[in-house]
Amino acid sequence: MLLTLTTTHRPATDLGFLLHKHPDRHQRFSVPFGEVHVAYPEATEERCTAALVLDVDPVGLVRRGQGGFALAEYVNDRPYVASSFLAVALVTVFKSAMAGTCRGHEELAATAIPLVAELPAVPARGGERLVRRLFEPLGYAVEVTPVPLDDAHPEWGAAPHVGLRLTATTRLSQLLTHLYVLLPVLDGEKHYWVDDTEIEKLLRRGEGWLGDHPERDLIVRRSLKHQARLVHPALATLAEDDPDPEAGATGDEAIPTQARRTALREHRLEAVQGALKASGARRVLDLGCGPGALLRRLLKDDYDLVVGADVSHRTLEIAHRRLRLDELHEAQRARIALWQTALTYRDRRLQGFDAAALVEVIEHLDADRLGALTANVFGVARPGTVVVTTPNAEYNVRWESLPAGAMRHPDHRFEWTRAEFATWTTAVCAEHGYAVVHHPVGEVDDEVGAPTQMAVFTRAGRSGAAGVGGATGATR
Ligand code: SAH
Repeated sequence: MLLTLTTTHRPATDLGFLLHKHPDRHQRFSVPFGEVHVAYPEATEERCTAALVLDVDPVGLVRRGQGGFALAEYVNDRPYVASSFLAVALVTVFKSAMAGTCRGHEELAATAIPLVAELPAVPARGGERLVRRLFEPLGYAVEVTPVPLDDAHPEWGAAPHVGLRLTATTRLSQLLTHLYVLLPVLDGEKHYWVDDTEIEKLLRRGEGWLGDHPERDLIVRRSLKHQARLVHPALATLAEDDPDPEAGATGDEAIPTQARRTALREHRLEAVQGALKASGARRVLDLGCGPGALLRRLLKDDYDLVVGADVSHRTLEIAHRRLRLDELHEAQRARIALWQTALTYRDRRLQGFDAAALVEVIEHLDADRLGALTANVFGVARPGTVVVTTPNAEYNVRWESLPAGAMRHPDHRFEWTRAEFATWTTAVCAEHGYAVVHHPVGEVDDEVGAPTQMAVFTRAGRSGAAGVGGATGATR
C-alpha cells in the first residue's frame, strides 16, 4: 500500500519539517497489522516527495481474526489497497503533521502549500463518481485512473480500485485529515471494531469541513459502518452542535475539557447579549449566526426584530429547527428572521439595524475576504453598535492540550493577539467612523489575557458605549 505526498513549495524539503520525518532517513514504524516505512524518493529545493509504504502482514491479520468469512481471510485485497489500514498508519506515523503541529515552523504548518497526494490503488465503492463527490467539494483537483483487474487479462475489465491523484494548495494537516477520514469511506470496510469512540474521533477530525460537506451523511454512515445506533447520534451532533471554537481538532489528547469549553461559550454569549442590550437597540443582527445559540438568547430579550444571517443554508435550517420557529406564536414569529447571505457581498437588507453581533466569525475569513466583510458591515450596513468577538491567540498556551502553535479550530484562518486585534479595530474605526471599547471575556490571566476578546464599536455621533461596562462585568 503506497501513498506519496509531493510539494513544490520552496524550499520543498520543508516537507520534512511538516511531516516530522527527515528527508535523508528511511524510517520504519510498527503498527498492529504490519509495518510502515517512510522514505523520500525525491528531495530537492524545487520538489520533494515523501512516500509512505504500508506493509500489511496478512498472516498476522488472520491470526488476530480480523478477516471476514473463511475464504476472505486468505484471499482479500487488504494488503494492497489504501483502506482504513492506511488511515490508521497515517494517523500513527504523521500524527503531529495531521494535527498541524510543527514546533519552530508554526507558520509553515499554517500555510497552504501546493500538494499532490497519489495513491495507486484506492478501493472505490461507488466508482469514480463517489471519489469525485468526496474530494472535489473540499477543493481538490481529482484525477482518477481505472486499474485493470489483471494486466494480462484486459477482457476481465476494471478492478474495483482506482488510481487517485489529488492536487490542491492547502495545509498539509488538512490533506492528511481528509485522507484519514475519507479513505475508509471509499473502502466501506473497517478492519477494526467500531464503537462509540469512533463517533468522537470522526467528529473531531471532521471539524470545520464535514458539517458542510454535501456527502456528509454518506461519510458518517460509512465511517461508522451502517450501525444505526451509532450513526444517528453522530449525525445529530454534526447537525445540531454549535461550531465549537475551542475544540482542538489537533491530536488525540488535544481536547480541552468539555466543561471549560462550554463555560467559555456561555460567557461569550452572555457578554455579547449584555453588550447588545446595553446599546439600547430595538433591531439586531446576528451575523454568521451559526445554529442559533445567540439568537435563542436574544429571543428572550425584548427586541422588535432579531435577524440571524449566515452563508450556510444548512446551518440556517438547523437554527430554524433548534429555535422551533414553526411552533412560535404569530407575534413572536414576526420578531425573528433567518437570512442566507454572504457577508463579503453587499446586501442592503442588512441596513437600518441598531446593532449587530459577529461572534467568532472573522477568524474564519481569509485576510482579503475579511476586508470585504468589514467594508460591508461597517461601511454599508452601518449599525449603531457592532459587537465582535474572536479568540485571543495569546491565551492558547493556557489550553494545556492545544499543541504549541496550533489554532483552536481547524477552519480558523488566523487567531490574533490582543495587539493584532486592536490594530484591526483601530483601523476599522478610522476608516468607518466608529469608536471602540475592548473587553476581555472569560477568565483573565495576568500574563496572556482572557481566552476571548470582545470589541464593542459605536458609530460616531451615537452615544451608548457607556452602558456596555455592565456586559464586561458579567463576563468575569
Ligand atoms: N456565531 C456563531 C457561529 C460561529 S462559526 C457562534 O458563535 O456560535 C462561524 C459562522 O460564520 C459559521 O456559521 C459560518 O457559516 C459563518 N460564515 C463564515 N463566513 C461567512 C460569510 N462570508 N458570510 C456569512 N457567514 C459566514
